[in-house]
Amino acid sequence: MTAPNGIREVDVLISGASLSSAAAAKRLVDSGLEVVALERYALPRHKTCSGIISPRGHRFLIENFGPLPKEILYEPTSCRGVTFHFRGMIQMPMDFDHGTTPHLDRMYSDHWAIKRSKVEVHDKTRLIGIEDRGTHVEVLARRNKEDIRYRTRVVIGADGPNSQTVRCLYPEYRKQINWFTVAQYLHEIIECPLDPEYFHFWFHPVLGYYTWSHERNNRQIVGVGYKAGERLSHRHRMTIEYLAKHYGVKLEPGDERQAVVNNFGLSLINRYVFGKGNVIITGQAAGFLNMIGEGMSCALHSGAIAGEAVAESLHRNTGLQSVYRLMIASEVKRCSDQWNPIKIIFGRPHEADFRGALSNLTARDKRKVIIEILKFLYPWGGYNWGRQMVTQALLRELRGYYLPSRWL
Ligand SMILES: Cc1cc2nc3c(=O)[nH]c(=O)nc-3n(C[C@H](O)[C@H](O)[C@H](O)COP(=O)(O)OP(=O)(O)OC[C@H]3O[C@@H](n4cnc5c(N)ncnc54)[C@H](O)[C@@H]3O)c2cc1C
Repeated sequence: MTAPNGIREVDVLISGASLSSAAAAKRLVDSGLEVVALERYALPRHKTCSGIISPRGHRFLIENFGPLPKEILYEPTSCRGVTFHFRGMIQMPMDFDHGTTPHLDRMYSDHWAIKRSKVEVHDKTRLIGIEDRGTHVEVLARRNKEDIRYRTRVVIGADGPNSQTVRCLYPEYRKQINWFTVAQYLHEIIECPLDPEYFHFWFHPVLGYYTWSHERNNRQIVGVGYKAGERLSHRHRMTIEYLAKHYGVKLEPGDERQAVVNNFGLSLINRYVFGKGNVIITGQAAGFLNMIGEGMSCALHSGAIAGEAVAESLHRNTGLQSVYRLMIASEVKRCSDQWNPIKIIFGRPHEADFRGALSNLTARDKRKVIIEILKFLYPWGGYNWGRQMVTQALLRELRGYYLPSRWL
């Protein structure tokens, strides 16, 4: 409803129109609430992402939005699993549980999910400011340099790693966490012996913190990640040379570069940010990111939980923060377990069998792999995450859950 003063009144306003937003919107629209999602770009919009979703995320999409149309997939349209690579040419291919998963073209998959949620979207509209008045929230947005105002009962921040919603609630937060840059370069392929059915990841500290490659629409993605502020071009060059020398990969020079900043690390140390008052945060904005940077399945599941918590709170008139924090604990467990050393050694937190793949190696290669992983982790020591991860893992064993007192 638009009031005479031109302010649009809604039950729930979502910032962002990506996967966490689509999942939240689906729950809210289904429960009969009036919802608007703001998206800063024109839809469908580009999204820098490899597009490899986990089996759990794949199931979520089918169950909530229906069968996936071919138009939302890249070639090859599916992925069998992940191959870990170590120095000495040791390779560990790990198939996803229950078969292949789709290779999503985020430009179209996100738009498809948003449309299927039936939410009203205001694209080219950027959320700028939030003022929580207790009984309602006033939101300032901008479209084509024009201010637009909304009055809503609840705001859901589903606006990704560099979230404006988080910045509005916690102006100092940006300075308190570590930022990383990831860049993916696309190359025409001359010759590429890497198996196109797998996502390839290198444990090689010299190449970068995060080094990956896979095929997309007959081109090869070579991606590198490092701390924000560092130039990635020389790490990319080193990776290209490394792949050529050790794997016989021959590529044309990169003809496209896509780079973004990332808030990596929050799920490792159980430092999520869930909001305050009538504003809640979800998806990667809240810190959800699974092992090797798989963020779509936890974005979908945390988004759905955010939507359910808001519906529950509005329909029953109960405290939003307490409901959300209670409900989101299950997704925190899922996500942080993926990084938890105790779960990795003794459990099975991933949907690809790391321990199984390790057991297929010779005793000598197993030793090498463990040494290589430790070497890979060494440069991360500066972030002071190791002790926090071990403490959180032990507390998780003792109590059965991750401590909510660590969340913002
Ligand atoms: C290089 C790279 C590769 C990746 N590969 C994979 C992969 O293979 N598999 C996987 O599962 N995950 C991958 N991820 C992670 C994954 O992309 C994210 O975790 C996931 O998209 C998070 O979803 P989200 O809905 O929380 O946020 P996002 O997908 O980041 O969406 C946020 C949305 O909010 C919009 N927005 C932002 N600010 C505003 C504002 N102020 N006003 C209005 N709208 C706004 C954005 O435009 C965007 O549409 C990758 C990430 C990177 C960077």
